[in-house]
Amino acid sequence: MPPPRTRGTALRQRLAELRGPDVPAKALDARALAALAANPGCKRRALLDGAGVNKATLASALGSPSAFGQSQFALTRGNAFEAKVKADGGAELLRLVHERLDPAAEPPVDAQVPDLTAIGPEGRTARTALALREAASGGWTLLDHPMLALDVAGSPAFLEPDAVVVHPDGSWTVVEIKSFPMLDGSADPSKVGAAARQAAVYVLALEEVAARLETPPRVRHRVLLVCPKDFSNLPTASAVDVRKQRAVTARQLARLTRIQDIADALPEGTCFAPDLPAGELTAAVESVPATYAPECLSACELAFHCRDRSRTDGAVTSLGRSVRAELGGLTTVEDVLSAARGETGDPDDPAVAALRRAAELRAEALGATCR
Ligand code: SF4
Repeated sequence: MPPPRTRGTALRQRLAELRGPDVPAKALDARALAALAANPGCKRRALLDGAGVNKATLASALGSPSAFGQSQFALTRGNAFEAKVKADGGAELLRLVHERLDPAAEPPVDAQVPDLTAIGPEGRTARTALALREAASGGWTLLDHPMLALDVAGSPAFLEPDAVVVHPDGSWTVVEIKSFPMLDGSADPSKVGAAARQAAVYVLALEEVAARLETPPRVRHRVLLVCPKDFSNLPTASAVDVRKQRAVTARQLARLTRIQDIADALPEGTCFAPDLPAGELTAAVESVPATYAPECLSACELAFHCRDRSRTDGAVTSLGRSVRAELGGLTTVEDVLSAARGETGDPDDPAVAALRRAAELRAEALGATCR
C-alpha cells in the first residue's frame, strides 16, 4: 500500500480530474458542510463536495438550475440586523450571551473586541487563534467574524462564524445571527435546524483550535441563536443545543475522507466539467448513487435534478423519509400500488398488509360516496 502522503496526492489528482481540466475547486463553507449533515447517506453529494465541484454551475449545465441562495433584499436586511446586534462593541450581543447562557458570570462590561484583520484566510485564521489564546486569561471577549479552519478530506475549509464569545471562565461560545423572526420565543424549526447544523460545524472547528492549546478550554455545545423579535428589528436570542448536529457532522466529515472509495467505483474517465455535453454530464452524475429526499430542496443545489430522476424512477424516496421508512422493502411507487391491489407482496409483511387494508377502506369509502 502506498504511504499516506502519496495516497493523499493521488486522491487530490483524481478529484481534480473529476472537476475537469482547469476547473478550480470550490471551497467548502460552513453552509455546505452543514448541508452534508442534512443528508448523510448521499454519496453523490459527498463526492461532489469533496472534489470541490461547483454544484450550482453543474445544476445549470444539467438543465435544472437551483433556486438557491438569498435574495439581495434578504442579504441587505440580514447585514443591517447583524450590524445592529453588534453595535457599541457588541454590548447587546454580550448581554444576550450572559442572560441566556451564563447568568452566574459577572456582567459583560468593558469586554475586549480584538482586531482580527490579517491578509488572506490563513492569516486571519492565525490571528483568530492568537486572539483566542490571549483571551483565555479572564473577562469577556467578543470575536467579530473570526476565521476558523477545519480539515476536510485533507484540505482546509475556511469558516467564518458571525461571532465567538469567550466567557470569564475561559469557555467559548459560537453565536449565529439570523434574520428570520423568532415569534413568541420560537422560530421556524427547519430554519433553526439549518442554523444549528451550521453552528455545529463552527463548534467542530473551534474544538480543533482548542485542542492545540496547552490547557484546552471548553467549547460549549449550546450555541446562541440571535434573531429579530416578532415582527420588529429588536434582537432576541435562544440557546440551541447542537450536540446531535455536531456528532452527525463529525461522522460525515470522517466519511468524506473515504471519498476515495466512491471515486474508485466510478467508470473510467468520469468527469463533471460543466462544459461537457449535457448527455455526458448527466451520465457522469447518474453514475454516483444518490439518496434524494424532499429535504434536499432546501439544502442542495442539485435538488431539482435529483428530484426529477427520483420521480422518473418512481422512487418512494421522493415522498419523504417518513413515508419511505413506513414502506419497508417497497422502493418504487409501482411496487406500492401493486402490493395495495393484492397483485404482489407478502401478505404477512406489515407494510403490505397495511396498504391492502388502506386500499379496502378507500374502495369502501368511494363505494359509499357513489351510492
Ligand atoms: S439533491 Fe441529490 S446530490 Fe444533493 S443531497 Fe439530495 S440526492 Fe444528494
